[in-house]
Amino acid sequence: MGTEKSAALFEEALRYIPGGVNSPVRAFRSVGTHPIFVDRAQGSKLWDCDGNCYIDYITSWGPMILGHCPEQIGQTISRVASKGTSFGLPTSVEVEMAREVTQAYPAIDMVRMVNSGTEATMSAIRVARGYTHRDKIIKFEGCYHGHNDGMLVSCGSGALTFQVPTSPGVPAAVVQDTIVCRYNDLRDVEAAFARYPGQIAGVIVEPVAANMGVVPPKEGFLQGLRQLTAENGAVLIFDEVITGFRLGLGGASQRYGVAPDMACFGKIIGAGLPVGAYGGRREIMEMVSPAGPVYQAGTLSGNPLAMSLGLEMLRELKAHPEIYTRLEEKAACLEAGFAQNIAQVGLPCTLTRVGSLLCLFFTEGPVEGYDQVRHSDTKKFAAYFASMLAQGVLIAPSQFEAMFVSAAHTQEDLEHTIAANRIALEAAAQA
Ligand SMILES: *Cc1c(COP(=O)(O)O)cnc(C)c1O
Repeated sequence: MGTEKSAALFEEALRYIPGGVNSPVRAFRSVGTHPIFVDRAQGSKLWDCDGNCYIDYITSWGPMILGHCPEQIGQTISRVASKGTSFGLPTSVEVEMAREVTQAYPAIDMVRMVNSGTEATMSAIRVARGYTHRDKIIKFEGCYHGHNDGMLVSCGSGALTFQVPTSPGVPAAVVQDTIVCRYNDLRDVEAAFARYPGQIAGVIVEPVAANMGVVPPKEGFLQGLRQLTAENGAVLIFDEVITGFRLGLGGASQRYGVAPDMACFGKIIGAGLPVGAYGGRREIMEMVSPAGPVYQAGTLSGNPLAMSLGLEMLRELKAHPEIYTRLEEKAACLEAGFAQNIAQVGLPCTLTRVGSLLCLFFTEGPVEGYDQVRHSDTKKFAAYFASMLAQGVLIAPSQFEAMFVSAAHTQEDLEHTIAANRIALEAAAQA
């Protein structure tokens, strides 16, 4: 089947929306085609407006860990919406949500709800600065923390150089307190602490980097960050917007046994509605207004509809811990199938996987950070993507994104995906 309706919609969208989309990666630019416009989704499947059906591994970039439209959550929407969708006053569900999150994630004692992952990291950084009375923040090359001005920095020429904003519109002054280190490189972090003694408020990190493809932390990396921040009186912030409630109820913190001082959430915590959250140790979170002097607010924060859905999601995950075992098995099955295909087709590829997050890099391994990631062959990826799509398998339209496995993916889906992968790898080999 064709995608004429999507193509026509995109053409019209381009007249009214910058680039035709409300978030850049949706434009499918890096794979050289137009986006598919979605009609609906159910379970592991997604249908575009031309009637094509795909096995969906984007899953809204992570939130739909139970698959699309899980029954319990659908019932919650109509029940809650009929009582009103926003009050701007507290509701009991916010208290329940805060209790669930802090129980699931022992490192944090208190949590504040916001409306996106971007808002969560922005606020966490402000609180870390307010708490330490210091300004500098260390981030890692290739880690994404939303589109906050201060986090939009790249570091082309290696660590610790003068920071240049990645985007026009970000004043140089705003990023002068952002220090970029190489992911998985503790020596870079040590050097930064040595260079700016007593000036570094915190270190923010994706404990599993999942916005440059998927790059697992090397053994000891997160522990090393824990130790260095503790020694230097800096706040360790885990950005668990992707990994939170995905690598287990306690996210990457639980998986790797490292307790940060603060953590940021998004995606799964809102079950597909716009939600983010940041939390931390009591002493740090009591800095937040009105308990303390660090200002942070939101008209729609803790929105009753969003909270109810998020809570339903967290309770479902908590009530069925076997979901995580199944996710691990499914993702491992894809990994093994892909690995066999790669060996047979003989392409220089690297597979990475942590729990239900996978990535197939079109470059030779090992992939330990942005230095290796950026050598991926995006032309081969584009051919691979197009072939997968034509075979009814929807993966992120970019080499630098994760593949998300959900609880709704069936054995049949996995088998079809592995068979499609074989053909798509051959297409990539020709490209
Ligand atoms: C998606 C993401 C964000 C930003 O969240 P938004 O809800 O898109 O603002 C921040 N950090 C990480 C690790 C993310 O994956």
